Amino acid sequence: MTLPKPEDIRITYTSQSADMEAAHQLFDQALETVRAQSGAEHPLYIDHQPVTSPLPSMVDLSPIDTRVVLGRFAAATAELAGKAIESAAAQKGAWRRTPWQERVAILRNAAKITRQRKFDLAAVMAVEVGKNRMEAMGDAEETADLIDYYCDQMDETNGFVRDMNRITPIEKNTDVLRPFGVFACIAPFNFPAALSAGMSSAALMAGNTVVYKPAQDTPWTGLKLYEIYRDAGIPAGVFNYVTGSGSVIGDPLWQHPLTDGVVFTGSKEVGLRMYAGLSSRWVKPCLLELGGKNPTIVMDSADLDMAAEGVMRSAFGLQGQKCSACSRVYVHRAVAEAFTEKLVERTKKLVAGDPTRREVYLGPVINERALRKFVGLSAYAREHLEILTGGERLRGGEFDHGHFVAPTIVRAPLDSHFFREEFFLPLLTLGVVDSLEQALYESNQAEYGLTAGFYSAHPAEIEQFWDEIESGVTYVNKRSGATTGAWPGAQPFCGWKGSGSTGKGGCGPYYVAQFMREQSRCLITEK
Ligand code: NAP
Ligand code: MG
Repeated sequence: MTLPKPEDIRITYTSQSADMEAAHQLFDQALETVRAQSGAEHPLYIDHQPVTSPLPSMVDLSPIDTRVVLGRFAAATAELAGKAIESAAAQKGAWRRTPWQERVAILRNAAKITRQRKFDLAAVMAVEVGKNRMEAMGDAEETADLIDYYCDQMDETNGFVRDMNRITPIEKNTDVLRPFGVFACIAPFNFPAALSAGMSSAALMAGNTVVYKPAQDTPWTGLKLYEIYRDAGIPAGVFNYVTGSGSVIGDPLWQHPLTDGVVFTGSKEVGLRMYAGLSSRWVKPCLLELGGKNPTIVMDSADLDMAAEGVMRSAFGLQGQKCSACSRVYVHRAVAEAFTEKLVERTKKLVAGDPTRREVYLGPVINERALRKFVGLSAYAREHLEILTGGERLRGGEFDHGHFVAPTIVRAPLDSHFFREEFFLPLLTLGVVDSLEQALYESNQAEYGLTAGFYSAHPAEIEQFWDEIESGVTYVNKRSGATTGAWPGAQPFCGWKGSGSTGKGGCGPYYVAQFMREQSRCLITEK
């Protein structure tokens, strides 16, 4: 069969595209290419120049099989991180003065190249993060859509330039949003393409230059993004790629005096450190998207098959390592038993293993640290709570060389810390409630406020859920995922409370404007 071009197939996280067979074949081809490219040595890229570091390289291992070395990546020193910021600072004037239409054209080109390379990008994420095929292809597609959606925001607003009212007939007033300068862009491991591209493309099209640091676990996906920007025509110094350990170069990046702003997606711990540190010395934008402890509420009127399917998918997709993952479920007592049975039954049927295989849903967790955390939490649950399914590391055969754990459901009393802390693992905590009021109260007790799911047949309950739930992203009666699956331009992704600092989310209509500051221009036109 003649395969279509990658850019002609569209795959979202939940799509059942007619071209799925072709998509799988293109993915297989890409996987072969990617495997053949494994093991290479990679430098930093500053000013589009390869730069090596005196520190020993970081070895990027696949969480599927830790005997596989995906690549060796330069571990930057604090000095090299500073050099990258200086390069970005040197280019900020030229990039700011580049007409916004030209910046947008380059970024639209980046979206186009992303679509052409989407299976390569997906294959790298599959082996580097342990994403299953649908998750990996969805992440790559989202990357392209995010860039285009943010470009639309520039087009729709005339580059954020607008005529204003006059107070007198002899004046002309214009309002212009202008870039801050240099953004440090620091990314997490779990959506290493989409989130990195979302943050950085918005910063770039707004006219900022960027120093980008991918997570230590995902430098290869980060490199692929760098190559897309470079090949799309982003000039030297405007987007710099710096790999290394967060504990070595994290602070030097955001503390550099020439850094004008920070955009970060990751844990609350690291986010708060930067937020506090920045505000103690400077007034600079610090755009944070942080963790979640996302609840789903299942009412007595719910379609229980739909609810069980949605909760299972959101709890265990990408091994529970989504900021939007459903990590706690509050089920009404009247249906608790029936719902729990359906949920556990579905969970037991999940296929774990090497997620590059078509039939596998559940891949490995990201690293040894995540594995140890899972083992510790399971031991606690075994002793103090009730494990309904899972609770162990998977062993034997292909499991022995990767970080594989069983999808786990724990029943706990409502005051357990299992309902409050983000674990970022395939570990779902279930509690029983007697009313919607109680479910909402419990949901809102966590300091996070990212996503929330709701299953009910009653419009009045749905309204009450929307009115009272303290979450930025909500879904009602969604079978394909109780709390997950946001898409650019469709479901803006705004973390409330401890889940984010901005009040305006990625994937949403107000995102790009956050990378700019306002300048009012009043010109007196007559003497
Ligand atoms: P993380 O441990 O906070 O790491 C995020 C990034 O911060 C990495 O690049 C890390 O580098 C870097 N870093 C570490 N120490 C730093 C420092 N002192 N200064 C500056 N940067 C530093 O998060 P993760 O484990 O990669 O990702 C999981 C977390 O991200 C979860 O909490 C999840 O909920 C959150 N998340 C939120 C969203 C959202 O949209 N709200 C989306 C995705 C993920 P190293 O890798 O080198 O340590
Ligand atoms: Mg790795």
